[in-house]
Amino acid sequence: MTPLRIQLEANEIPTHWYNIAADLPTPPAPPLAPDGSIVSPEQMGAIFPGPILEQEMSAQRWIEIPDEVRQIYAQWRPSPLMRALRLEQALGTPAKIFYKYEGVSPAGSHKPNSAVPQAYYNKLAGTRRLTTETGAGQWGSSIAYAGQMFGLPVRVYMVKVSYQQKPFRRSMMQTWGAEVFASPTDRTEAGRRALAADPDNMGSLGLAISEAVEEAAADPHTCYTLGSVLNHVVLHQSIIGLEAKKQFDKIGLYPDVVFGPCGGGSSFGGVAFPFLADKIAGDKRAQKLRLVAVEPTSCPTLTKGAYAYDYGDASGYTPIMKMYTLGHDFMPPGIHAGGLRYHGDSPLVSQLLHEQLLEAQAVPQVATFAAGVEFARAEGIIPAPESCHAIRAAIDEALRCKASGEPKNILFCLTGHGHFDMASYDRYLSGQLEDYEYPSEAISESLKHLPKVGA
Ligand SMILES: *Cc1c(COP(=O)(O)O)cnc(C)c1O
Repeated sequence: MTPLRIQLEANEIPTHWYNIAADLPTPPAPPLAPDGSIVSPEQMGAIFPGPILEQEMSAQRWIEIPDEVRQIYAQWRPSPLMRALRLEQALGTPAKIFYKYEGVSPAGSHKPNSAVPQAYYNKLAGTRRLTTETGAGQWGSSIAYAGQMFGLPVRVYMVKVSYQQKPFRRSMMQTWGAEVFASPTDRTEAGRRALAADPDNMGSLGLAISEAVEEAAADPHTCYTLGSVLNHVVLHQSIIGLEAKKQFDKIGLYPDVVFGPCGGGSSFGGVAFPFLADKIAGDKRAQKLRLVAVEPTSCPTLTKGAYAYDYGDASGYTPIMKMYTLGHDFMPPGIHAGGLRYHGDSPLVSQLLHEQLLEAQAVPQVATFAAGVEFARAEGIIPAPESCHAIRAAIDEALRCKASGEPKNILFCLTGHGHFDMASYDRYLSGQLEDYEYPSEAISESLKHLPKVGA
């Protein structure tokens, strides 16, 4: 029988995270204040605890995972690497398709990989409360769970449209003890300003970030947590790729191409960077390896955005970072059901894409859900809509292999299950979803509002 599940033992959970910052071909562009000055650790210290800031700025290649964190990881890690044999057969491809399944975590996605260490380091530093934002609810539920593991209260600003469309994500966060607010709220200056301009504002991730950051900055005992984009989050997610490499070693194979969905870039960087390290180090197996970030055509940050300094949030509270961006006032269209709506992207992923060590691709949403349904019918697991982006790209690659006869090894990151996203599947199954390509004129328009610094 062909082994379908490539497992590791609990004692094979990696002991260190991998930090790609140690292996960048050129030094990274530092985060800046809008006046062009480099942001000081003290300024960042208003919202992040010391150990997190240290990791954010570290260029050390290997960073030890604390025992307390590995102990909690062990509740669901190592996550399985699965061979999608039934999908291969359904497609009639000579390619081997593998997926690293992150939906086995308590919150159902890869996000607890970073939520747990973030809660741990905050607890260690004496933080008394965490704030955050959440879009679809994946990050909010992950930090609610992680806060609960370390006895830290959590406040979540949830994008209003998701708050209304995904009531069970909210109940999940509340079950884990978090307080959840529909953003924009009247609790913060940023929220009140947005509501004054438009009382029906349905919120955006950028605006929810502004609210959560504002609350943390105003209280010395409250810290802010972010579920993607920043270097320390990408660092924590490297556990995905590190485990996948061990699992490929067990079966004596190596991937030819790796796909990951890309919103803020943390899971993509997490699965891709440990393999990219091989390529940079000149490992023969990795010389032709392709690493492809997959995003929606309705939020085409990497494929149509500018590589420039921009704010991380809608209101301009955060430092500016050099990254691919659609402009911080970008608003994704209401019709978009597949997540991955953030206007920017991880500076690390952005830089490596800019230096052509990574690739990016955008897929339309109807084909994305079609891929998710095809996957569910072959493999059983119903994927999160975000994950479906990578599945679309992996299926397309497998079909190209069918045409060319190439037996490639394809790996994708199945970042989560879709059990809380059935309303989006409903819209797909009842024919209500349309494709939407974000118009170039609208992108040029929002790019006019980029801060005029650096670059
Ligand atoms: C949040 C999320 C993503 C996208 O976030 P990244 O930081 O780009 O990884 C992808 N898949 C799932 C299931 C998510 O919850």
